Amino acid sequence: MIIQDLHAHTYYSFCCKDKPEKVVETAIAGGIQMLGFCDHSYGVGCARTEFCYDKGTNLSADYGLTLQRYYDHMSAVRDKYRNRIKILCGIEVSTLISNDSYALPDGADVSMFDFALVENLDQIGRSTARGDIFSFAKRLKCPVGIAHTDMFRFIDRLGEDPLKYFKKMAEAGIFWEINVNFDSLHQFKTHDYVTEFFKNKRQQEIIKQSGVRLSVGFDGHNVREYKAPRVKNACNMLKNMGIRLAFETRLI
Ligand SMILES: [Zn+2]
Ligand SMILES: [Zn+2]
Repeated sequence: MIIQDLHAHTYYSFCCKDKPEKVVETAIAGGIQMLGFCDHSYGVGCARTEFCYDKGTNLSADYGLTLQRYYDHMSAVRDKYRNRIKILCGIEVSTLISNDSYALPDGADVSMFDFALVENLDQIGRSTARGDIFSFAKRLKCPVGIAHTDMFRFIDRLGEDPLKYFKKMAEAGIFWEINVNFDSLHQFKTHDYVTEFFKNKRQQEIIKQSGVRLSVGFDGHNVREYKAPRVKNACNMLKNMGIRLAFETRLI
């Protein structure tokens, strides 16, 4: 089993100020073996204008270039640390329709990323995915995970059977994130769905039977508040349940 944290923010997200190198070194010091960069699609493309190719021009027009710039930078960091930690270049994709247009622009190509974590799916009425994670994942053309979402509640709201739904996710290669964040940005709140999952044997059995993979993410926004033991604990607990983590076999 690989100790993995597939949800790390850097200064490409406007809620984080840390350099990618600092994030990587904090993860290494904490004993993380696989780290997934996962900056916000709107941060990468819209918030950090200093990273855009043409400052001051219409950012949406340059969105593809901006995405590529982020990807290239993360790939360079990955290469730099290749002997010390396995790095994946990911992106956190918002599907939220809001006044600020946080949703990923329609034509945006994220197929070069190692994975995309999709968020806000559970806000069905306000999400461009409209509750259909399968079509949305296909459109992204890269491995997809569902970020910090109470999937059992989501599936229940859709009126679907959880075992069948998770099986469908497994077949589509969509994984589910166990988000173990605990930091000031999120008011030191843990996710109820994660607490519930680690207590609930029925849920654990469904996940195991379905074959769906889980990922673990700290969702860090400040290296000083990073808590590697939370990531390690979650990875170990999942391993002890016989549940497979995302990207595990790629490394063996
Ligand atoms: Zn998120
Ligand atoms: Zn995040």
